[in-house]
Formats: sequence, C-alpha cells, structure tokens
Amino acid sequence: MSARILVVDDILPNVKLLEAKLMSEYYSVLTAYNGFEAIEVAKAEQPDMILLDVMMPKMDGFEACRRLKADPATAHIPVVMVTALDQPTDRVRGLDVGADDFLTKPANDLALFARVRSLVRVKMMIDELRLRDETCRELGFESGYSDISDDMLTGHVLIVDDRASAAQNLSNTISANLNVKCNVVDNRDDAIAWMRREPSEIVLINSSLESYDGLRLCSEIRSHPNARHSAIVLMVDHNDFKTISASLDLGANDYVMRPVDDNELIARLRSQLRRLCYADRLRDNVHNSLKLAVTDSLTGLYNRRYAMPHLNALIDRATIDDSALAVALLDIDSFKAVNDTYGHAVGDEVLKEFAERVRMNLRGMDMTARIGGEEFLGIMPETDLAGAGIVAERLRATIAGKPFKITHPERETLDITVSIGVAVMSPQHMTPEAMLQAADEALYRSKREGRNRVTLATTSVAA
Ligand code: GH3
Ligand code: MG
Ligand code: MG
Repeated sequence: MSARILVVDDILPNVKLLEAKLMSEYYSVLTAYNGFEAIEVAKAEQPDMILLDVMMPKMDGFEACRRLKADPATAHIPVVMVTALDQPTDRVRGLDVGADDFLTKPANDLALFARVRSLVRVKMMIDELRLRDETCRELGFESGYSDISDDMLTGHVLIVDDRASAAQNLSNTISANLNVKCNVVDNRDDAIAWMRREPSEIVLINSSLESYDGLRLCSEIRSHPNARHSAIVLMVDHNDFKTISASLDLGANDYVMRPVDDNELIARLRSQLRRLCYADRLRDNVHNSLKLAVTDSLTGLYNRRYAMPHLNALIDRATIDDSALAVALLDIDSFKAVNDTYGHAVGDEVLKEFAERVRMNLRGMDMTARIGGEEFLGIMPETDLAGAGIVAERLRATIAGKPFKITHPERETLDITVSIGVAVMSPQHMTPEAMLQAADEALYRSKREGRNRVTLATTSVAA
C-alpha cells in the first residue's frame, strides 16, 4: 500500500532521516519546514498522514495540529506528533489538539512503521466513506456531517483485564471522565461472549493476561462481526515496541503503555470515540442519501429509479424459478381537475392517501412505487393475470369506495377513482419496459372505456 506522508520538521537533517526511513518502506514523502508550510501542503496535496514535529519556531506543532484538525479540508488526515519531549502532559496536550499519536525522537522504527500502516489503513476506510458522501452531495443530497462535540461521544467500553483491582480503577477513571458505560471481564471467553451479546464501541485489552495471549484475543475480536466498527486499544508494557507493532498490524487501533497515565488514556479513548462518531456519521449519511435517492418524498414509496431495476431483477428471478409475475399500473382519474379546483396542496393530500391505500392493499412481498405524478406501479411476484386482476379490482374498489379526506374551506371530502391496467410477464413481455408498455395499453383502454375500471392486457398469441 503506497501512501503519501508529509514530514514536518524545522531541522533539515531530521526531515532527511525520516524521509529516508519512509522511502525505504516505499512510502512517498512530502516535506515541510514549518507549521504554516505544513498546513499549506496538507491542504493542497491531501497526504495520507502527517508526521509533525512539536518544537518549531513561529508556530509550534500543537498549534499546527489544532489548525489542521479544525479545517474540514484536512481534519480527516491522521497526525502523529514527533517530539523529543516524552512527558505524559505533552502527549495529552497533543491528543487534546486532535493528534492521533505521539512518537518519541529518535523514532523507533518498529513503532513508527506499525503506526504508519495502521493509521493509513484507517485513513483509507475513511476516504472511501468520504468519497461516497461526496458522491451523495454531488447528487444533491446534503451532507449530514457537522462538527462533533464531546457530548456526542458516548458508548460502551469493554475492559478485558484479569488484575481485578487495576481493572476496577480503570473502569472508575474512564466512567468519571467520559460519557461511557464500562464493563469488566477477566478472560477471553467472557470477552467474546460479551461482544456477541452487546458490541462495545471500545475494547480495552490487557496484553499480558495470565490465561490467554492478549495479541491473539486482539485479532479474534477484530474479526468478530460485531466488532467490525469497534476500536481496540491495547495496554502494553513500557516500550514493548514488539507487542505494539504486532497489535497494530493485527488491527488494534491504539495502545497505552504501562504504567497507564490516566489523562493520556482518557485522551486516547476520546480520540477513538471521535473517529468512530465521524465514521458513523459518514456511514449514516450515505445510507440516508441512498434511501432518499430511491424514495419519493411525498408518499414515501419507491420511485421509478428504484422500481425499474427492481422489476428487472424480479423478472430474472421469476424466469429462473419459472414462476408468474404481474404488474398493475394505476393512474388517478381526472386528477388535474382536483389540482385546478382545490389547489396543489389538496392534490398532494390525495396522492398521499392514495399511496397509503394502495400500500395497505398489497401483500408484503408486493412492491408499490410512484413512477409518475399520479401514476403508481404495483409489482406482484408469483401472481398470474387472473390473480392480479382480482387484486387490481380490490384496489379500484378501495379507492372508489370511500371518499378522500381533504383540507379545504368548502368541503371535507372528495370522491376519487382510479383506472388500472394489468399485465404479466410472458415470452413477449420479458423486460420491465415491455411489461409496463403492455400494462399502459391496458390502462389506456380503461380510460377510454369510461375510467374507474380495470383492464387486463391480452397476451396475443403469435400466429
Ligand atoms: P386522466 O383521467 O386522463 O388520467 O386525467 P388526469 O387529469 O388525471 O391526467 P393528466 O395527466 O392530464 O394530469 C395529471 C395531473 O397530475 C397534472 C399534474 O398537475 C398533476 N400532478 C402531477 N404530479 C403532482 C404532484 O406531485 N402533486 C400534485 N398536487 N399534482 C400533481
Ligand atoms: Mg390521471
Ligand atoms: Mg397521467
């Protein structure tokens, strides 16, 4: 995986050293020599990750990081602070301004590369989501993404630790500082059972459990279907870079070294929650946009864009199963007159109620779509022409049988009728277009013969 990494340091030899290391692992490297330049390059070049020196003249790394994370154009790019300082307070300060990790100079290669690999992996996932979100926006849907504030960061933390009192302390610290619920288990089986029952947003694992290999547990949890979107954080011995490197490659998202500094732990968990929340938002937004794209906002029914390929898929399935498939095309009678007499708003009311009545009178396996202004389509799998005719007649009666309630100063109800054309899949009608064409011709006959009636398409037998 070739990623582009921006290295920022005010001292040339430091830049050159990191650049050489990264290039030996086939990463492409961009460079910047101060905070301002870093922000400029990050915006213009959109690197996959930034290695940011802390102590720089004019604008230090903390400030550069804060600005990068505050700008929507660069907020999603992972930032690792690289520093000679190794005090927990500096780490916390970095994490508080949104840095994703902290490396101590001179960077330990194992830790550096494991970190780069894991952050690049997460970044690729976020990029994919951002791309889909972007596409939705181009299609005209609003992005649901807005700033994530700390009070939105909620969830469950599962602590896997067999040192009872230490685990209890962790639980107390976390619950006191974050808006999350903590649960403690002390062995592998309980951890897996817990994930199966109630997936946790964060799983915090002690890497040196007495009864089980912490790394193995990390990889088991990572591959559990309920943990697909969970963050795994490992507690490791001080400077145990071998375990750190292995865990990040196995899918852990972050680590804390023992002795655990409370503030650092909280800051790291908070940044994991923030990332999860961001990914969730993007995912929801894409999902909602897709739903919007295939539904009609007035009636909530599927629209033509969805109905046609869906009908195509049903034709394929019916062909394979050798089963029947019917469509009914419904067109409200003299609907223009409703609009002209009572106004568009009343017209909309009628359309909504009409859609609801049709939906209620079809089976769950049938699909209803609004495919034109006052034209609706019912798709009925495993239904032949006679059966579909009975359903269509029932629909017709449902519409004509009871006046529609309207909101209008002069009257409370309106009589509405519908004309329907029914067609089935047949050797001459094997495509959505052909089926709709046949139904449309039948519908036209219903209109011509006086409206408020059902006509079945006659499948002419070729001579
Ligand atoms: P026919 O019995 O022959 O079907 O006559 P009709 O008046 O129903 O048919 P026509 O196609 O002439 O008119 C359809 C009308 O439906 C015209 C249009 O203004 C109205 N219409 C289409 N979409 C909407 C909508 O979303 N809301 C409302 N209120 N009216 C709509
Ligand atoms: Mg009409
Ligand atoms: Mg019409």
